[in-house]
Amino acid sequence: MTITSGQPAAGHDITSGEVGLGWLARAARDRAEAGLHRDPHVRRVGVDAINLGSNDYLGLSTHPDVVAGAQAAAAQWGGGSTASRLVVGTTQAHVDLENELADFLGFPAALAFSSGYLANVGAVTALAGRGDLIVSDTGSHASLIDGCRLSRARVVVVDRGDHDAVRAALAERTEERALVVTDSVYSIDGEPAPVADLYAAARAHGATLLVDEAHAVGVRGPGGRGLVAEQGLSGAPDLVVTTVLSKSFGSQGGVVLGPAILRSHLIDCARPMIFDTGLNPAAVGAARAALRILRADPALPDRLRDNARHLARACGADEPAAAVISIIVGDPQQAVDAAAACRDRGVLVGCFRPPSVPPGTSRLRITVRADLDAATLDHVAEVVDAALREVGAR
Ligand code: PMP
Repeated sequence: MTITSGQPAAGHDITSGEVGLGWLARAARDRAEAGLHRDPHVRRVGVDAINLGSNDYLGLSTHPDVVAGAQAAAAQWGGGSTASRLVVGTTQAHVDLENELADFLGFPAALAFSSGYLANVGAVTALAGRGDLIVSDTGSHASLIDGCRLSRARVVVVDRGDHDAVRAALAERTEERALVVTDSVYSIDGEPAPVADLYAAARAHGATLLVDEAHAVGVRGPGGRGLVAEQGLSGAPDLVVTTVLSKSFGSQGGVVLGPAILRSHLIDCARPMIFDTGLNPAAVGAARAALRILRADPALPDRLRDNARHLARACGADEPAAAVISIIVGDPQQAVDAAAACRDRGVLVGCFRPPSVPPGTSRLRITVRADLDAATLDHVAEVVDAALREVGAR
């Protein structure tokens, strides 16, 4: 039996040099000409740089307790989880982590995935399918977008944070079931979404709201519990929260939080639960240690946000709502050159270009850390300023 999907292409010319992988050379040239070639920076042992390109907001990835947590879990459970969560890839440590995170974030239940990306793809595709509606906005992380695409639901995309447009899309729908998805703090520039308004819109129209708190947990809310907790919505009905262990927790992995029935639905229906090897035990151990640190030091996120305000002021940027400082350069090549100039001066910053950001808005993306002192932040601001001047962007 042959099963075909998609439309057949028009007849192809096998003398063009573009068949097989032949077309890759032209595609690479096109990307290079547009300033969109990527060459990942390789961090090396013993080469010190001040790292403001990571998402290690609380500086916990190298905390001795977090490293020890990873080591202890690997010693106990091995170098990998050995199978899908559904088969034998779930250890007691996974379940303990889930219970601890659910308790910390104020939800009845949590389910951990091997990455935040897969948590979002798994949650969205398990909650919406053919015949359903998803309303997403232009600020949604790529993993939410890919979840929408894979779900086969009808997808309406509205402007970032436009809750009136969300209401309208929900009111006009013919589908019975609807899911609204959003980042709570947009990953590109750290701006907050109107989570309470989006929740009200979803509730008013019998929809579920899924909020990705990746850039809010450990950053905003009481003791770093995120924007959903800050809005008093933890554990609210028809609310699903996803978050990651790869940012403030200094580890790796993703989590979906909600009612217990959601957890069991995801175990049965989320494809990454079924087909992806479970979260690495070392990542589980690291995340549990990070959570203990955050619980013991609830002012840690305050120090992060103080640092973010300090650095933004020193860089002449707007006061940040979270811990991302976005400096728009515009031209992608200029943004790459500015990031390289920072690197040459010992400071790592992120450089976002299309398709991560809209054309014309290529930028330096600086993620602040809680564990940097004022002198270091001032030095970073001087480096960024010098780099921007060097490439003619300031
Ligand atoms: N959601 C958001 C908002 C993110 O920024 C990211 C990571 N860039 C993810 C999800 C994916 O998380 P992970 O890196 O753990 O796959």
